[in-house]
Amino acid sequence: MLLPETPESLSKAAAMLRSGQLVAFATETVYGLGADAGNGTAVAGIYAAKGRPSFNPLIAHFADTDSAFSAVQADARAHVLAKAFWPGPLTLVLQRAPDCAISTLASAGLPTQAVRVPRVSDGFRAVLRQFPGGIVAPSANPSGHLSPTTAQHVHSGLGEAVGLIVDGGPCSAGLESAVVDLSTPAPRLLRHGALAQSVIEAVLQEPLTIDVDPAVKASPGQMTQHYAPRTPLRLHAAGATANQAALVFHDPTGFEQACALEILSPGQSDVEAAANLFSALHRLDAAGARSIVVGDMNAEGLGAAINDRLTRAAAGRED
Ligand code: AMP
Ligand code: MG
Repeated sequence: MLLPETPESLSKAAAMLRSGQLVAFATETVYGLGADAGNGTAVAGIYAAKGRPSFNPLIAHFADTDSAFSAVQADARAHVLAKAFWPGPLTLVLQRAPDCAISTLASAGLPTQAVRVPRVSDGFRAVLRQFPGGIVAPSANPSGHLSPTTAQHVHSGLGEAVGLIVDGGPCSAGLESAVVDLSTPAPRLLRHGALAQSVIEAVLQEPLTIDVDPAVKASPGQMTQHYAPRTPLRLHAAGATANQAALVFHDPTGFEQACALEILSPGQSDVEAAANLFSALHRLDAAGARSIVVGDMNAEGLGAAINDRLTRAAAGRED
């Protein structure tokens, strides 16, 4: 459903987000495909709608700096950049706060979270204010397609996969946000964007290390770093012994002996399984098992992305 931005469509947007549906909205960079950051199933719905082949971490959007920094551990550098550029096209990657309520799927299991206060209409900022825990949103386009800068682009790309598209007019920047990683001692530029490197460096008063993923050119928004469990992981297991931890899609038969068992989706839903994947892996990793054995996953829908993630974890390498 595509609606012009009015008080009615904005309150509909807030209600739909609250009930776990996806809402596309205009920011100064590109249109975002938003979901309630604390709702893992809604976040999984983003990957399903975009047809993303793997789980790239998502940027969480906030009404103001205070809410953004309640989700992460912001240092002095983060405060300086936020004061200079928010609301605006700058995304900061920071360590998640210990009590961060953002779905672990949104950060692809990483200990870091990308946050931003976007320039949006006053109306949509009021919607964001109703979600102090954040709205996670990647660009509102099918994976591998161009980023959308009008509501029409979103509609022709994603159509009915989006509950509601709020037409806030064309995006003013039309280019993604610059992504700066402050989770390490030396600040790194992870993505060039609508805010120039030199402008960021002038405020930061230190140079940015450039760490733009070469894969970004071929496939915008892809990133290389992913959470990998420390415990060895083996796929296509038929059962588990007592010193093994086990991950199954829905059927625990054969895995009853495992010292820890996670069932991704008792209801056999790919969306529910994706929502649970990273928190389940973290728990299994912490179980003190000799290895983690994984039963076969359903391959439909988000199953491909789940298998992609597990295959990389089994290979024990960062992709
Ligand atoms: P998009 O999904 O199109 O908005 O792109 C989001 C960008 O932010 C991608 O380039 C991601 O790689 C990057 N990003 C998001 N979260 C993180 C994170 N925790 N660590 C590093 N990069 C991130
Ligand atoms: Mg994108």
